[in-house]
Amino acid sequence: MEQLKNYINGELVEPVSKKYLDNYEPATGEVYSFIPDSDERDVQSAFDSAKNAFETWSKTSLENRMLILMKVADGIEKRMDEFVAAESKDNGKPQKLARAVDIPRAVSNFRFYASATQHFASESHHMPGVGINYTLRHPIGVVGCISPWNLPLYLFSWKIAPALATGNCVVAKPSEITPYTAYLLSQVCIEAGLPKGVLNIVHGLGNKVGQAIVEHENIKAISFTGGTETGKRIASIAAPMFKKLSLELGGKNPTIVFADCDFEETVKQVVTASFSNQGEICLCGSRIFIEKSIYEKFKAAFVARVKTLKVGDPNEESYVIGAIVSLQHKQKILSYIKLAQEEGGEILCGGSELKLAGRCANGYFIEPTVIEGLDYKCRTNQEEIFGPVVTLTLFENEEEVLIMANSVKYGLSATIWTNDLKRAHRVAEKVEAGIVWINSWLVRDLRTPFGGVKASGVGREGGWEAMRFFTEPKNVFIKS
Ligand code: NDP
Repeated sequence: MEQLKNYINGELVEPVSKKYLDNYEPATGEVYSFIPDSDERDVQSAFDSAKNAFETWSKTSLENRMLILMKVADGIEKRMDEFVAAESKDNGKPQKLARAVDIPRAVSNFRFYASATQHFASESHHMPGVGINYTLRHPIGVVGCISPWNLPLYLFSWKIAPALATGNCVVAKPSEITPYTAYLLSQVCIEAGLPKGVLNIVHGLGNKVGQAIVEHENIKAISFTGGTETGKRIASIAAPMFKKLSLELGGKNPTIVFADCDFEETVKQVVTASFSNQGEICLCGSRIFIEKSIYEKFKAAFVARVKTLKVGDPNEESYVIGAIVSLQHKQKILSYIKLAQEEGGEILCGGSELKLAGRCANGYFIEPTVIEGLDYKCRTNQEEIFGPVVTLTLFENEEEVLIMANSVKYGLSATIWTNDLKRAHRVAEKVEAGIVWINSWLVRDLRTPFGGVKASGVGREGGWEAMRFFTEPKNVFIKS
């Protein structure tokens, strides 16, 4: 069976421990490859090579940085089929989705930040008769990038690309649950001629490799996407070391449906916003609030549409919902469905594990589940489930829905469905979220700030936000 390798100092290498972890295919429940079980010694060696490479990479011309990042993008695109199959096998998402979203987006991330090298500028502040300030933006040095399993290459590249574009060298760790496309990326970087040590990818467990990156005294910035509890732990280690931190954390996003929405279109879009990627997207809307006058009509149309979603083998084009990422995560989701029933919820559709025949007989599948009748303050409505489970809640008016929408500790994203422009603006302003979509979901412009408020994170990614995060400003004043 294939053994994945770390990517350190431009080479594919074994972990120092020579130990490996099992890598499961969620659709079959079987081990199909082995992942390096790395530790702080591998992180140290990755750091040493990154530090060494920084001397040259930080001084490489902006044009050359752009050209090499473009080559990395081209390299992924050339191997599209391989990346798509690998992402789907590792994560359980339908190949169709990986082909439409994940892998093209990783290509775009590299292209976007390659071109950003040509346009990023720093400020100058003129003081008439006194002098002028100009701001230098230096790369930080060696930075750490840690990403989760739900959108593996998509989020991994979203961090790595701006870090490299700004002249930093990187020690990166993908989720140990979905390491494969990061491994393919290391091959692409070698083929593209990325200088040795500029990017280092260390595979392994979060509490070993991830923690060693965070604890390393000379890795000066950490860009992390993952769960809120892990984020809290990382912050508690990194803050006393005065590291720069970008934390993109969990969500429990509200979907707010007003009676004057475009009914058919809203039903269709809200189903997508609820169940894409098995509901394992931090931006999925998991609490659906529906205005009283259309509640019953919306519920019937929504449930009818959810029942048409076909769950099955991610390799087959006909299925829109694939496997849950791991056995442990499947059990967590099922435990929340049980909790919802204990809390008085009524299951309108789904609610169970799905047993398939053939190749996927031992895979981890859950039916898309819709629940109603729960109090907005109950645990099911307050805690992140991160799976194909949504709740429906009736509201009477704008004030009430805002109280319910804002009642959670999270504040990542929200969607608002209405044809009343003034109301859309009003609610968007008052809803506690870093990202709001009106009559749409997951429309992304890579230039916009991306991130959450409250327990959903600290800082923003995207556009110049990421370029600023990965650089240190230094103000210089010249007297006139
Ligand atoms: P985790 O927090 O469990 O893991 C995220 C990453 O951190 C993984 O690479 C993990 O490694 C690593 N890690 C775990 N423990 C530590 C540690 N002590 N120190 C350093 N690194 C560590 O999240 P999940 O992978 O389960 O991802 C799901 C979560 O991510 C959800 O809460 C979701 O909402 C959130 N998310 C947020 C997004 C956003 O943009 N705000 C986008 C996507 C997801 P390993 O997996 O190997 O243990």
